[in-house]
Amino acid sequence: MSIPIYRPHLAGNLSRYVEECISTGWISSRGDFIGRFEEAFASYTGVKEATSVSNGTVAIHLILEALGIGPGDEVIVPTFTYIASVNTILQTGAKPVYVDSLEETLQIDPNAVRAAIGPRTKAVMAVHLYGHPCDMDAIVAICDEHSLLLIEDCAEAFGTFWKGRHVGSFGDGATFSFFGNKTITTGEGGMVLARDPNILARCRHLKSQGVSPTREYWHDVLAYNYRMTNIQAAIGLSQIELADEILRKKRELAKTYRESLSGLPLRTHDSVGEVVHSNWMCSVILDNAEYRDDLRQKLKAEGIDTRPFFPPAHRMPHSAAEGDFPVADGLSARGINLPSFPDITEREVHSVCSTIREFF
Ligand SMILES: *Cc1c(COP(=O)(O)O)cnc(C)c1O
Repeated sequence: MSIPIYRPHLAGNLSRYVEECISTGWISSRGDFIGRFEEAFASYTGVKEATSVSNGTVAIHLILEALGIGPGDEVIVPTFTYIASVNTILQTGAKPVYVDSLEETLQIDPNAVRAAIGPRTKAVMAVHLYGHPCDMDAIVAICDEHSLLLIEDCAEAFGTFWKGRHVGSFGDGATFSFFGNKTITTGEGGMVLARDPNILARCRHLKSQGVSPTREYWHDVLAYNYRMTNIQAAIGLSQIELADEILRKKRELAKTYRESLSGLPLRTHDSVGEVVHSNWMCSVILDNAEYRDDLRQKLKAEGIDTRPFFPPAHRMPHSAAEGDFPVADGLSARGINLPSFPDITEREVHSVCSTIREFF
């Protein structure tokens, strides 16, 4: 038996839409599917408009640039995140200022954000990690109170809601990723949202070489090629059509893990408060870090693929920083992501759970 950590749910209209790109010749970054995917995405997340990009990392870089974040600015970000959140801040020339996370939800700690604000703080980046939302009431209040920009990295949070509102609709800007293991995928791909239509227009300008809308081959600003292709968008549109089904299956999987693993010296990553957890990754957090690697080893021996939690960014050589982040360090040492794909079979889930139970 071999159970991967993830496998995309490729179904529905995917082949038909991709075939349409090929038969019409629209395989590059022009074509109908781009607008159709952007509209369907905006509608799903409850915002007016969205602009697609080639991946979730450039999505973050693009919104940071469009919001004018650069050298001399500080951006508050959880150290417990995927490295792209931090790298893109560094790439603008701004400085990431790390804060710790909350033990229970794994999300950025609002009190730590408050304490990290200084004269150079320009923005807060909230990362909705592993599918659970951050405390958006607290984060929005802090940003309003201190006139800070709010950016949401929603790469792991498609289908995640805070008090009935989809994440990504709270910030000045927000980004999503459609990497192959994300909840909906385009192979590689990303999306940018912005509260101010002028900022979204700037994103569109910057993602396409800064070309003048009126004068051919005239570029009025240093810019990028961050465009998504029509083929990616065709895949994306077919995925949006399946989103509710994908999310339902993942919710059931998370429930099965929660019930089947109860009573062991670990906890699952459950929802806290009035939220919808999209369960991008179904995680377990062991009571004791000592067993983490042995348990992963045992699962591997049974053909079960897992991932450790992200190491905190403040410990990596290029993004190192002083400071104590005990919750981030603790979570990082104790967390395991289990196979989390929507089409996992009952037999496979049973095998994962019984292997963990046997281990203990
Ligand atoms: C996946 C991910 C990204 C980057 O997305 P890519 O599409 O892989 O570039 C950024 N932030 C977080 C939190 C992610 O999980």
